[in-house]
Amino acid sequence: MTCKEKLKKCKEEGTALLATNFYNFETLKGLLLAAQKTKSSLILQTSESTLHYLGIKPAKALADSMLKEYGVQGWLHLDHGSSVELVKECLNAGFDSVMIDASERPFSENIKITKEVVEIAQKYNANVEAELGYVAKLGQKQSLEPTSAVEAKTFVEETGVNALAVAIGNAHGFYKEKPYLNFERLKEISAVTNCCLVLHGSSGIPDDQLQKAISLGISKINLATETKNIFMKTLQSVLKDNREIDLRKVFPVAIDAVNTLITGKLEVINTVRHA
Ligand SMILES: [Zn+2]
Repeated sequence: MTCKEKLKKCKEEGTALLATNFYNFETLKGLLLAAQKTKSSLILQTSESTLHYLGIKPAKALADSMLKEYGVQGWLHLDHGSSVELVKECLNAGFDSVMIDASERPFSENIKITKEVVEIAQKYNANVEAELGYVAKLGQKQSLEPTSAVEAKTFVEETGVNALAVAIGNAHGFYKEKPYLNFERLKEISAVTNCCLVLHGSSGIPDDQLQKAISLGISKINLATETKNIFMKTLQSVLKDNREIDLRKVFPVAIDAVNTLITGKLEVINTVRHA
């Protein structure tokens, strides 16, 4: 089953997939152990900076071999692609799904560039995600203006995009105050489009709000910051006053921490799936 088909199925069933970023072998192993344990499918995401760090082809090869090794159904996705060139490189390397993020550009330009990517992705049968409205990136001020339902309808119709990231009070990074998602707006957007709706910035969103968002039409939950945070915080505490030089004895503790975090997230998401 392709990523595109799986997300369509999730949308129809009212369930969601966890889409989570990996950065290296260790974080990827933690994610896959959790997916294996909970028998969950997973979208593995890489940002542009991760692709600069790992390389596009090594990232693809690593994801493929690890999914096979752990017997997990999963797909590889480009998170927040900023250019058509990068999207093409990822599709040529065999990515199952790409995001083109032109959310900071004017509405008409966002439509134009997304439409171009949808056309390119067609021959690869790849999933295409775009963003409409603005989900604040790290260090940026959170937008108070949620995605417009009227614009979402026009955007999906004109671009033919399969997945759409919406701004409903969510932001990237950790929240300074407890977030409250705009469920009314999510309902309005869900009512006017069959497109798979994506929630970015899920780190720090309380479990009950994640579940409610799924029940109202979110079918892809993006999570990155909490994984990075738990991995590095765990390593920092292990390495404090530790003179061990065998890295294979150090990393497993951090891998376990990622496994525990993601197992918890998958259980929260799967509860809605099985309701
Ligand atoms: Zn994001």
